[in-house]
Amino acid sequence: MSGFTRRTFLKLAGTVGAMGLAGCAATPTKGTKARVVIIGGGYGGSTAAKYLKLLNPNLDVTLIEKLKTYYSCAGSNEVIAGWHDLDWLRRSRDGLRTKLGVNLIRAKVVEIDPQKRLVSLKDGTEIPYDRLVLSPGVDMRFDAIEGYDLKTSKLIPHAWKAGKQTTLLLNQLKAMRDGGVVIITVPPSPYRCPPGPYERASLIANYLKQFKPKSKVIILDAKTQFPKQALFLKGWQDLYPGMVEWVSSEKEGQVDHINPSKLIVATEFNSHRADVLNVIPPQKAGWLARKTELADQSGWCPVDPHSFESTRIPNIHIIGDACIASPMPKSAFSANSQAKTCAASIVDLLNGHLPGPPSLINHCYSFLASDYAISINGVYEYSVTEKQLVATGGGETPMNADRGREAEFAKSWRENITADSFGG
Ligand SMILES: Cc1cc2nc3c(=O)[nH]c(=O)nc-3n(C[C@H](O)[C@H](O)[C@H](O)COP(=O)(O)OP(=O)(O)OC[C@H]3O[C@@H](n4cnc5c(N)ncnc54)[C@H](O)[C@@H]3O)c2cc1C
Repeated sequence: MSGFTRRTFLKLAGTVGAMGLAGCAATPTKGTKARVVIIGGGYGGSTAAKYLKLLNPNLDVTLIEKLKTYYSCAGSNEVIAGWHDLDWLRRSRDGLRTKLGVNLIRAKVVEIDPQKRLVSLKDGTEIPYDRLVLSPGVDMRFDAIEGYDLKTSKLIPHAWKAGKQTTLLLNQLKAMRDGGVVIITVPPSPYRCPPGPYERASLIANYLKQFKPKSKVIILDAKTQFPKQALFLKGWQDLYPGMVEWVSSEKEGQVDHINPSKLIVATEFNSHRADVLNVIPPQKAGWLARKTELADQSGWCPVDPHSFESTRIPNIHIIGDACIASPMPKSAFSANSQAKTCAASIVDLLNGHLPGPPSLINHCYSFLASDYAISINGVYEYSVTEKQLVATGGGETPMNADRGREAEFAKSWRENITADSFGG
């Protein structure tokens, strides 16, 4: 973390958090009674609901989520390693209703009418809004890799949305013979959780080392480098020597097509037979955002990160994985940070103030073993001239840092972000 210590980061993180709230010119209890509707109750949407209510309890805040049970992707690699059961990933939003008065609706939103400012639910109910926040997460691009589509994903998991897919991958690992080969394919950027595939490879190796030590993990990567690369490579050497092989796109890592019945992955000049195949396909913003034409040709949604309002349709804010907030990575921490900025901006805008330029943060931990973790962090300031975020600080775990302490930090981070995001 050259020139940028953990202490500096934590100090700044505290300042940024405080600024996010103090930056809101509205007096919380005297704010307008406007209606804010939020679609998507994951990390982004739930945090937005909470902070809108904290900043102005008079707001009529409604959070709409289609799934009965939300399983956190963050932590799902640990379930695949067999450290916890799936239920450990379940997140409840009850505190948002009981402690803060957020209206919770379980339904799929099928239509947004930006002119009438209405959202329509699957059963035909229409809900009006003054401001709309969309945090719909990602969809897989099932047309990107020949041989891999929605139907195939029921047999060859991506496990990039937690739940049934997580269990499927875990069960396949359990059923695999000792001496088997696990192949993970990694898409080009941008995708949800940039270090996630490498944490997954580490934790699968962790499982294999204990139960099937003759086995191997091969990562076929569409990229030439990856986050925390030197730290991961060192960790694999120390913890799982000879067990994890990373193949960059320069060395045949780019997948050409898949033969699903034979579990064969073909690259440009080669083919690899897997015993367990985990295909992480390229991704795009969630369906509703694309349907409403909030996404551009890239498949992601352009926003002005000053308030995370769409640059395509006014009064609609997009946060989390679905939005383009580069250079911020698509992570739960980023979604949480963006949600707070967005909530403060909405309260300001509804009260007729222009919000101040925001600062945002991200801190991302990866486990390589239960007592061995590494992290990367970043600070992002809004550039008024460029109307986008600029990285102004950040770094990675130093090579000589205590990985056991990082693992403890990672565990407490998870407790904190769960409580902060889901109204605990
Ligand atoms: C293996 C893995 C490990 C990860 N580890 C970490 C980590 O350690 N740290 C970290 O910071 N991040 C991590 N992430 C990334 C993190 O999970 C995502 O970045 C985060 O979930 C993004 O939040 P979101 O609100 O954008 O989307 P989501 O959390 O996916 O929430 C979107 C919600 O919107 C709902 N929705 C979508 N469309 C509709 C609709 N039409 N109507 C109603 N509801 C709808 C969905 O059902 C979903 O619940 C990891 C991801 C993976 C895959």
